[in-house]
Amino acid sequence: MEKLSNANFPVIADQKTVLIALTVPLSATAVAQVTCDDVLAMARPFAQAPEFAYSWIREMIGMLKIVVDYSEETHHDQLVRNSLLQLCLSILNHLSFRGDFKPRSLDNKFAMLALSVRNIFVVITVASNTPMGFKEKLNPLDDPEVVDAVTGCTKWGISLLAWITDSLFQLLDDPEIMAMLADAKRFPELAKCLQSKGDVSLQLLLCSSTRGFLSAACRRLMHVETVSNRAAQYYETHVQQHQQDPAAAAAAGARPHPALYQAYQRMVRAVSSGLVKVSEFDRLLSDLSSDIHAAYQKTFSGLNAAKMKPQHANLTEQQQQQLNEQFARKAQMHCELDMLLGRNVPPGFREVLLKFFTVTLPAFRSQTDPAKLYFANYDLLEMEDSPRAIATRKALGRYVDVFKRVELTVGPRAARTNGRMGNGAANNNNNNTNNNGPAKRTAAATGGEEMMTRGSGNHNGVAGMLIYGNWTGIGGGNGPQWRRCVRCGAVMGDIWSGKPGYNFVLGQQRKCVCGGSWGTVPRG
Ligand SMILES: [Zn+2]
Repeated sequence: MEKLSNANFPVIADQKTVLIALTVPLSATAVAQVTCDDVLAMARPFAQAPEFAYSWIREMIGMLKIVVDYSEETHHDQLVRNSLLQLCLSILNHLSFRGDFKPRSLDNKFAMLALSVRNIFVVITVASNTPMGFKEKLNPLDDPEVVDAVTGCTKWGISLLAWITDSLFQLLDDPEIMAMLADAKRFPELAKCLQSKGDVSLQLLLCSSTRGFLSAACRRLMHVETVSNRAAQYYETHVQQHQQDPAAAAAAGARPHPALYQAYQRMVRAVSSGLVKVSEFDRLLSDLSSDIHAAYQKTFSGLNAAKMKPQHANLTEQQQQQLNEQFARKAQMHCELDMLLGRNVPPGFREVLLKFFTVTLPAFRSQTDPAKLYFANYDLLEMEDSPRAIATRKALGRYVDVFKRVELTVGPRAARTNGRMGNGAANNNNNNTNNNGPAKRTAAATGGEEMMTRGSGNHNGVAGMLIYGNWTGIGGGNGPQWRRCVRCGAVMGDIWSGKPGYNFVLGQQRKCVCGGSWGTVPRG
């Protein structure tokens, strides 16, 4: 019998029993659509046990018959609505979460990115649609704050596409990876090799659900491109009109709303700053999807169920055909489950990957600037986990708002006084970093406005607190508070405002991107 134990929780238990004991109540909460954070809290002590998260997710997928194979789906609606798949990713994310400013494990990177891509798709979709049930026609994108939220999600999305592209180019230049693809005997080493390199880009592309999320996000990003182009044209025409004949333009109500105009200008800048063409990336995903579909067909079309289970040998031809199809679907589902959990890539994918790395990707590279991609700033994704990058993030108290996808920079932890905005002098002699430079760069990078500035920002002697970003939240006398996810520690700064369009979009964030509940806490 396999036993479970770990140093933090000295329990020795039968793994299968523990998994069933956790899966049964979790299934009940999933069916009733109520929170399961208490079950996750019970599971957390086992997080360090080897294979625990994988085994639990496999158990859940089997027990609840969760769909994980989207290799034949062209529409993304079912995928995005698959709340049980979201729960599986959430469990993976939660059990691999090590805390703020700690290096992310491969599982954590994969699960967090998958959940975030799904969420930016949801936010952009909701913001682009007129809600039902409002007396007056309401367009959320008439609200500058909604436009800013969409811009933040767009920036995050195009940054992710660039980051994945850069990671793939690094794999392309890696002779070890190419040798594994060229040699069928070495191909099974690929998953382990990617794990040792800490690379999730290929897993995100090969797993059909995450590829589907990426493709769905690409379609939304292209929609944002269209909206921003239309807005730019509209404002160009109306600003010209206003300059030429202010009186007539004002009478016709043509004067653009300044805040909305500026918000759309920010959107145009965000869209035009992309290092990878979204439509080209989407084509890359579509080509890969068709190759994978063909590889599955080739691998499993000749599968004969009767050969494997002789008791089925006496069935009619039609029954055998149906059985063979069931077998093929099940085998495909197992391959997809393995890829979802970062396990071995099916042997039938070797030719697909060989074509991808020798034909498709080099052609894609010729349309990009690899040097710009390599040196680009991917801080928004929070994927850089070198000790230096983590130390910088920690020193600045830098977080990313999961709704607006803007960086929030709070002063150093040691300088805070119980979450209050402090002007006092809390000496921190161990930290000699001058905060002014990087903090200013962050404000410029996020396009946010400096909302509050207290203190000089020099950590060495002054408890300077700098908050950047467009804060709209309410809070106590000390300013707006944060929401933090009880499962993954994600941060969100916005709380309800009086604007119906904004509230409608924000309503989609009643839960964190991982499905966890929010707790209200002081900033930082
Ligand atoms: Zn969360």
